[in-house]
Amino acid sequence: MGFFDVFKKESHCASCHVVKPKDQLNDIDFSRRWAEPGGEKALLCRECMMARVTRGIKSFSGQAVVVWPMKKYGGYHYYSFSEMPGLEYEHDVVQKLRTLLEPKGRSCQCQKVAVFTWCSPEIFSNDPMGGEAHLSSAGAQYVCADCLCQALEEKIKEQDISFREINVPVGENGLWTPMEC
Ligand SMILES: [Zn+2]
Ligand SMILES: [Zn+2]
Repeated sequence: MGFFDVFKKESHCASCHVVKPKDQLNDIDFSRRWAEPGGEKALLCRECMMARVTRGIKSFSGQAVVVWPMKKYGGYHYYSFSEMPGLEYEHDVVQKLRTLLEPKGRSCQCQKVAVFTWCSPEIFSNDPMGGEAHLSSAGAQYVCADCLCQALEEKIKEQDISFREINVPVGENGLWTPMEC
C-alpha cells in the first residue's frame, strides 16, 4: 500500500452502514466542537447527512444568514452573532450581517414564512476567511426551512461536496458559512 492509499481508506455510514471511500462521507459535529454538549457526532453518507441536517434546520427557531457551501472549504459552520466577535470577526462585519436577516414578516417564494437569508459567497468576496465583506442584500433570497434544505442539497450535489466538519444552526441568530477546517 502506497503512502497516498491511506487517504483512500473506506469507512461506513453510521446510520445506513453503506461502505464508501472516507472522502465521500461527511463528518457531522452537532456538538460544534463541544459548544453544544450532547450534540451528535457521526460519519454519514450524503443522504443520511442531508436527512440529519434537514431535521436540524427544521428545529431551529432563530434566523440565520446562510452562505452557500463551497467545495474548496471542507467545513460548514454555524456561529451565533453573539459569539462571532470572539472568533476574530470585526464588530462591524457582525453588525452588517445582522442587517441581512430577513425583515420580519417576509415570506418565501413558496408563501411560507422566511427565516433564512440565502446568500452567494460573494458577500465575502468568495473568501469567508478573509474578513473582507462587501455585505449587501443584493442577490440574497429570503427562504423558509424547506426551501433552504432544497437549495442546500442542490449546491452540495452540483459541486459534489463532502464535509470534513458540518454543524447546523442552533440557539441564537447567526451565520452558517463555508469555512476551512
Ligand atoms: Zn447513510
Ligand atoms: Zn419556501
